[in-house]
This record gives sequence, structure tokens and C-alpha cells, in this order.
Amino acid sequence: MTQDFMDTKSLVKGVLAGDRVLLARAITLVESHARKHVLPARELIQHILPHSGGSIRIGLTGVPGAGKSTFIEAFGKMLCQQGRRVAVLAVDPSSSVGGGSILGDKTRMETLCREENAFIRPSPSGDNLGGVATSTRESLLICEAAGYDVVIVETVGVGQNETAVRTMTDFFLLLQIVGGGDDLQRIKKGVVELADAIVVNKADGSNKDRAQRAAMDYARMLQIVQPFTPGWKPQAIACSALENEGIAQVWEIICTFREQMTASGVFHQRRSKQNVDWFHSRVRQAVMQRFNSENAQHIRQLEMKVGRGELSVSAAVDQLMVDKDQRSIE
Ligand code: GDP
Repeated sequence: MTQDFMDTKSLVKGVLAGDRVLLARAITLVESHARKHVLPARELIQHILPHSGGSIRIGLTGVPGAGKSTFIEAFGKMLCQQGRRVAVLAVDPSSSVGGGSILGDKTRMETLCREENAFIRPSPSGDNLGGVATSTRESLLICEAAGYDVVIVETVGVGQNETAVRTMTDFFLLLQIVGGGDDLQRIKKGVVELADAIVVNKADGSNKDRAQRAAMDYARMLQIVQPFTPGWKPQAIACSALENEGIAQVWEIICTFREQMTASGVFHQRRSKQNVDWFHSRVRQAVMQRFNSENAQHIRQLEMKVGRGELSVSAAVDQLMVDKDQRSIE
């Protein structure tokens, strides 16, 4: 990273003042893996933490082509017109693999980008939390401290990302489309069970009736699925992001959710549990990092033996642990 960060105090001040350039820089700081950025990043989060928490955090997922970016544009623009400030963190699962990027290879959300009250940021996927970088959660807090009252974390529904995004958001929205036959199978069943709402997109033109029927099928299915959010009945509706139909209804559902879940205490319980889970995941990450760096050479040797079939996996693990225990006694 060539970017030179300014001192943390100025960054914090800039974030709290809602300066988009400094907000972007603050996010780059928490995403950085450079050793010299670890402490400033921690300090930054510590300072912004008391100013965070004020947004509704929405997780959005759907297969490539479901219309996520078109939906976010329509939804985001509507909210900006209502005077809200909208941040979008788009998690790209392919960016760490080195291959083509699913989200980054096209210009996305061009018109929303131009809105003064919108902030859009691709979020790198990490090797933690099933592809969603731990920094995404910190970026979310920074956006809140910068005054964004709606934060959308977008993922592509092709991997483990959904669970990770579910653990950092209040409301989880699954964007679906009707396709060739097996519609309910397009996305893993487990993901349906995470959803607070299923929105069938592209309900326009000749597709309108089919999309509406699919939404009704989902609504029926959701009645028999154990809701992920206790006390909430997951909803299913159809919309057309392209024609701006049903978008306001999605926001109404989210507002009702927030109202009801705040009144029942579930909203705050969830956030509190998410913080504890976050703590545990950071502990796991720190322990793993330390373990891997302290045992790098030994791990590499064992990897070769396991690869050649000379050593079983469990024997290799035993060797690694015994060796480590011995070294700590010495
Ligand atoms: P993403 O990969 O999920 O972000 O999907 P995009 O937003 O890029 O949309 C994929 C394609 O579907 C694009 O050609 C969009 O124009 C189209 N699309 C998105 N929303 C709608 C919609 O509501 N109706 C129709 N007919 N097409 C849509």
C-alpha cells in the first residue's frame, strides 16, 4: 500500500464530519494488512465506536444477475431522495482468488455513485468468515460514525458469505429471480432460512405474473420455515428494480421489522450477540495468525509429507501440537 495515512485523530475527525474522502481512507486503513497499520486502525475504531450503531444494517444477497446492483440503485436513490444517507459495502468473493471479479468487472451503481448522500465501496473478501473480510464489519461501523443511516452489505449468493453477512446485519434480504424451472433451488435452501425477506425481482413485462406467483410460493414456504429472527414473520414480495415497482414496499417491510424487533428487544439482543461473536472470531483469527507464523516451517514440512501420502493428516496434526507443546515447555 502506497497510501500515506494521516494521523488517526484527523481521520476520526474527518469521518465524524462525514467527509467521504477521509471515510474512504479510514476504511482503507482498517482493510490494510500492513503491520504498521494495525495500531492506528485499532485506535481509529476505538474512537469511532461511540458514534456507531445508528444505522439499519441490511444484508443483501442473490445470485449473479439477480439484479442486486439495479435494486440497490433504485432502493438507494429512493432513500437518498427521502433525505437518508446510504452506504453500500459490496463484498466480492472472487477478488481474493486472483481470478476474474464478479462485482468489479463492470461499472456498478453508476447513478447512485453520483448521489451526494450515497457512499459505495467494494469490500475485499478475506479468508475469514467464509470469504467476508473481518474488516467489513469495521467498515460498517465507520460508515455509521460518518452518519450513514442505512448501510447495505451486498454479497453474491454463491458461497458461505451469506452466513457471515447475516452475523453482521440486522435485516437479511434475499433477492431472487424466476428462472428455468427449479426456482426454489437456485439458491441454497440454507440461505432461504436466513432471510427476513425474499424479494423476487424482475416482476415486469412478460415475467410479471410468474414473478408474482413465485413470491406467493416463497411466502407459503416461509410460513413453514423456522424464522431466523425470533418473533418476525419473513415476508416475500415481488418487485421490479428496473421499473421502480415494489421498492418502497421493501423499505416499509424493513421499517416494520425495525419497529417490531426494537419493541420486542430482539434488535438489541442480536447486536449484542453479534458483538460477542465478533470478539470470538477476532480471537480465533489472532490465535491462528500467531500459530501459523510461529510454526510456519514445521507446517510446510508436514504439508509436504501429507501431500506425498507419507503421513496421515491426524498424525501430522499430532506432531505439530506435540512439537509446539514441547517447545513451550523448553
Ligand atoms: P447483479 O449481478 O445481481 O448485480 O445484477 P444486475 O443488477 O447487474 O442485473 C443483471 C441484469 O438484469 C441487467 O441486465 C439488468 O438490467 C437486469 N435487471 C435488473 N433488475 C431488473 C428488473 O427489475 N427487471 C428486468 N427486466 N431486468 C432487470
